[in-house]
Amino acid sequence: MTIVDPTRAEWQRDSALVGGRWVAVAETEAVENPATAELFGRAARCDAVLVDAAVRAARAAFDGWSTRDRADRLALLRRWQAETEARRDLMVEATVLEVGAPVTVAREAHVDLALDIIRTTLDELEGPEPIERIGNSLVVREPVGVVASITPWNYPLYQLVLKVVAAIAAGCTVVAKPAELTPLSAYLLADAAVAAGLPDGVFNLVPGRGREVGQVLAEHEEVDLVSFTGSTGVGAGVAATAATSIKRVCLELGGKSASVVLDGADFETAVRTTVDMAMLNTGQTCSAWTRLLVPAARLDEAVELAAAHAGALVVGDPTAEETDLGPLASAQQLATVRSMVARAREAGARILGDRPVPEQGHFHPPLVVADVDASDEIVQDEVFGPVLVVLGHAGTDDAVRLANDSDYGLAGAVWAADTEAGVAVARRLRTGQVDVNGADFNVRAPFGGFKKSGYGRELGAFGIEEFTEIKSIQI
Ligand code: NAD
Repeated sequence: MTIVDPTRAEWQRDSALVGGRWVAVAETEAVENPATAELFGRAARCDAVLVDAAVRAARAAFDGWSTRDRADRLALLRRWQAETEARRDLMVEATVLEVGAPVTVAREAHVDLALDIIRTTLDELEGPEPIERIGNSLVVREPVGVVASITPWNYPLYQLVLKVVAAIAAGCTVVAKPAELTPLSAYLLADAAVAAGLPDGVFNLVPGRGREVGQVLAEHEEVDLVSFTGSTGVGAGVAATAATSIKRVCLELGGKSASVVLDGADFETAVRTTVDMAMLNTGQTCSAWTRLLVPAARLDEAVELAAAHAGALVVGDPTAEETDLGPLASAQQLATVRSMVARAREAGARILGDRPVPEQGHFHPPLVVADVDASDEIVQDEVFGPVLVVLGHAGTDDAVRLANDSDYGLAGAVWAADTEAGVAVARRLRTGQVDVNGADFNVRAPFGGFKKSGYGRELGAFGIEEFTEIKSIQI
């Protein structure tokens, strides 16, 4: 049982971590609990002067950190890992409070997954440095330099860890800007860095607004790479800004992933698992399978099964162990989801699953949407809420066509009679991740998008390589 206490001193933050020191910031931003709409915390609202100081601190720390002995670097990072693990329960609390994630989801999908990623990313540093030999050349990977990390609010700790730990493991130094809605778990990761004795300036934290902090980082001449996770529109702007100073950019953007159910698959498991994946974190998951594609002859059966399963999900108090869906993260997100559903209804879609939800806070029921055209907004655009659309397909080729009929390409699923048939169809999907027959998420396998879902890869060895430059040394 996790105690969730909104009155803790840890939720009152008015400083930024710059060059290893907590620097007081005059302005702060309130943090809301989306389950109650109460303002329970606050975080620093940094300005361009502080961002500049943080980037310079990261630059000053770079030479020492990047040239540090690999084993020594790993030992320090293992201390950071241990200090982070020691804050696990506090991080779960922060996630319940600032995201509104149900406590079981906060524990498993937010915090324990993030801890797993720290551990497995650092495992990649065990053993000698990988050096490739091509003829008379040694091909080595050097850290890219100062990295800016800009992250969204849906999985605040997980998104941050993906970037920051991989970059620092690669030998880079980092300036991190968490989302303004969810800065508190980032502070806990920074506390752990300070407690672990990470050298000054290796990890800097500058919470604040997109335009006031993120934009300044994307423009800054001393930033070598921007690693951005967020919406496609903001990501495109960050890439355009970064282009003027020729800095590298990694973009992890939105998604509208398809779960493709083929003849011969375990239909019930496929439909139920797709509902669970669509609704995870109240649908605020970039890789959510939000389009269910089933054989046309079984469309009605799929819709009924999906609606029944969604109807059994418990919506409510995120601090309760039995809750499946908490609120959406903000009033704005709730308004966006409601308006997309209203437009789908007006366009003639069948909406199943509407039911009363708690009035206080930003709750929305999990919905299943049918009777739609493939070109409809609700099928094409990311809702980022608990909404699953169901479409019929006329066989494997048609299913592949529909799955690929999207501007996005982040994740997806194939449900087939056997693994071989599933992999053959997975190869035809224009997307970065495909799970065949409900296979597990793999924290060591590269994660990232095709098309407007972005470019670059995170996780495991590929995730570390993202923060390196390749050098050839002829001998
Ligand atoms: P967002 O794009 O509004 O914000 C993301 C981050 O960018 C925030 O920290 C924000 O402050 C910052 N930002 C805003 N304006 C900026 C600017 N002009 N310059 C620099 N930074 C700026 O996205 P969001 O609403 O926080 O997150 C939801 C979106 O993120 C969804 O589209 C979702 O699909 C996507 N997402 C993608 C992944 C992935 O791995 N592909 C993961 C999670 C979320």
